[in-house]
Amino acid sequence: MLIFAPKELHPGENRTPLVPDTVAKLVKRGAEIAVEDGLGLASGHADAAYAAAGATVTPDRAGLLGKADMVLRLRKPPIDEIALLKRDAVHVSFLDPFNEHALVDAMVSAGVTGISMEMIPRTTLAQKMDALSSQANLAGYVAVIIGADRLNKVFPMMMTPAGTIAPSRVFIIGVGVAGLQAIATARRLGARVEAFDTRPVVEEQVLSLGAKFVKVDLGETGQTKDGYAKELTPEQQAKQREAMAKVCAQADLVITTAQLFGRKAPVIVTKEMVASMKTGSVIVDLAAESGGNVEGTVLDQEVVVNGVRLVGLGNLPGRVCANASQMYSVNLGSLVEHYWDKDTKAFKLNIEDDILKGCVITHGGELCNETIKGIRAKA
Ligand code: NAD
Repeated sequence: MLIFAPKELHPGENRTPLVPDTVAKLVKRGAEIAVEDGLGLASGHADAAYAAAGATVTPDRAGLLGKADMVLRLRKPPIDEIALLKRDAVHVSFLDPFNEHALVDAMVSAGVTGISMEMIPRTTLAQKMDALSSQANLAGYVAVIIGADRLNKVFPMMMTPAGTIAPSRVFIIGVGVAGLQAIATARRLGARVEAFDTRPVVEEQVLSLGAKFVKVDLGETGQTKDGYAKELTPEQQAKQREAMAKVCAQADLVITTAQLFGRKAPVIVTKEMVASMKTGSVIVDLAAESGGNVEGTVLDQEVVVNGVRLVGLGNLPGRVCANASQMYSVNLGSLVEHYWDKDTKAFKLNIEDDILKGCVITHGGELCNETIKGIRAKA
């Protein structure tokens, strides 16, 4: 079975989907691997390392896309590359199938099996393939490091002959994978941390990391069967904003990570709340790429509004691309290995399997994913 990894084309993307360690593992299982030349350069992996791991390194991107039985990438593919793929080829990448209708339709027309990494179920069995978590974890860390760098204060309390410095106050809104890592990182640096999430189940985790959980009585909020937050009603949103305003006004650094799976992120920090924050304080909006949690954030930019710095930088995991690539590559490699048939030495697709049922979007010339079909039916 021929597996091909093309270079990422997105401007500024330093991560690579496949590192040499994963190549070596898959080659050992009998896979034939080809990578586009320069695949891992930006994240520190020379072509020679891929060759040493057993891959063929080639400049012939289009040729290999046409020959490969399986294509492994990180970001969604350019739509014009779908027609190059072999019928029945398996294409694995982030895909944003909730919004990328034309891309999904192109996969249907080309008869390609499209696997979406963001749709891997968040189950214990699939944990090692969970790329949303591996990347969000790093994003949470990076958000704190950027925040600490932009702040004009230190994080920890310092008792010195020149006086006592109070610890910085960090407020984290949204306590999923990124939020938990942000709490842990800010605590390690000595900040006083508060956190809030609409899912009350996370309170215990917040406390166990040494942070304070901000309690807001929103009434019934709940979560979906997959553990994702449900959208709040307009009344609940108003209540949440009122409570958040008080904590934001006292914070030095606010990190927002609140997302609604497959939908635009909710606006939580309003213009008025930004205006009430202290001069010199910082907000890192980790949801900037999915619409933003903060009014006034600009994607990929840093802007200062009323003395408050709003950081809307995208692709935070890409700032630690060595680890992000290594982890994403393990996620991909684990997916391939989990379904590897040692007799045929090939990836064995069974779309009735629980994990694959969740993440295979297109197969055999059809849109086969029930969640995405449901979204389309409602649209
Ligand atoms: P996410 O990126 O979708 O959202 C981040 C956080 O924002 C979530 O905790 C969500 O509840 C919160 N949020 C949404 N709206 C909000 C609002 N208005 N105000 C405040 N917070 C808001 O979440 P994620 O990190 O992808 O995690 C989603 C779920 O999946 C969690 O329950 C997590 O524990 C679970 N998970 C399970 C596994 C596993 O079991 N293998 C692995 C990873 C994640």
